[in-house]
Amino acid sequence: MTGTEPVTGTGRPSAIGQALLAIGDQWTLLILQRAFLLHVRRFADWRDELGMSESVLANRLKELVAGGLLRPVPYREQGRTRTEYLLTERAIELWPLLLEIWSWERRWVPRRHGLPELAHDVCGNRTDVELGCASCGAAPVTAHDTETVRGAATFAQVTVARHHRRTVRGQAGRDPLSYFPETFELLGDRWSTVILAAAFLGTRRFAGFRSELGVAPSVLADRLRRFTELGVLAADEPGARPRYRLTAKGLDFFGIFAFIVDWAQTWYAGPPDTDLRVTHRACGRPFRPCLRCRSCGRALSRAEVHFVLPEAAPERRLRLGVSRG
Ligand SMILES: [Zn+2]
Ligand SMILES: [Zn+2]
Repeated sequence: MTGTEPVTGTGRPSAIGQALLAIGDQWTLLILQRAFLLHVRRFADWRDELGMSESVLANRLKELVAGGLLRPVPYREQGRTRTEYLLTERAIELWPLLLEIWSWERRWVPRRHGLPELAHDVCGNRTDVELGCASCGAAPVTAHDTETVRGAATFAQVTVARHHRRTVRGQAGRDPLSYFPETFELLGDRWSTVILAAAFLGTRRFAGFRSELGVAPSVLADRLRRFTELGVLAADEPGARPRYRLTAKGLDFFGIFAFIVDWAQTWYAGPPDTDLRVTHRACGRPFRPCLRCRSCGRALSRAEVHFVLPEAAPERRLRLGVSRG
């Protein structure tokens, strides 16, 4: 359950809808990312690291606990009992999504400050990741190599109101760890993500998105304009009725999309007929995304990779999500 909405019988969102409610928020992603990379587990450390207001942080931690992504554990300090928060197994399984987000931004988002680099302990190289099919072992796999079919009710069950407004964080660009400024635009609120999902499923026209998603015209117009500015969608036949297609940058977001779908449908159960089915054409089996090392070609595991901060900062090895305790 999500912790944001009382979830009842028929109103239960699809697995993807539940997952987006749980993680489709900028602060939530940053809190999880810091838990993964810096092993932050205490309130004051997130507050200081992210410069968050205490009330927003308290609210997000509460949601993360209710959503089963953080586990509160009491500890004693100076004679007082306090709480720290450990990543649950469900949250730890987001690690390939974080790597894929890092890799996509590295390919597509120009920035003034360097991203952390990824090191693969097995081959010893600084490397990048490559999307592969866990069912048959093939890599690389792109959006063109797969076919996505939605259940009849998928989108009807994605959209549940959440309480937060979209938040935009100021100085993220100066912080090498906050590597997802553009990803937040695509992932940071549920409408953006479902519009993108519909684009992956072949929706092209304003009217198509509207009828498919039931999204308000003003919201839809805003997101389509923003996606076009970001170069994720391009408007062909511009004019009164443009046709929107995914650009190379948009199509390459498929890896992130695939990990979200896979994670959502592994950890959340939606009503019947609301799952997306992604098939790898070459093997004909359900597409389960996995990551391979671009240098040595081996499948990556969480314990065998770490991030290294860029040269400007003192070198730190950042292991992913070992704060399970
Ligand atoms: Zn395959
Ligand atoms: Zn390697």
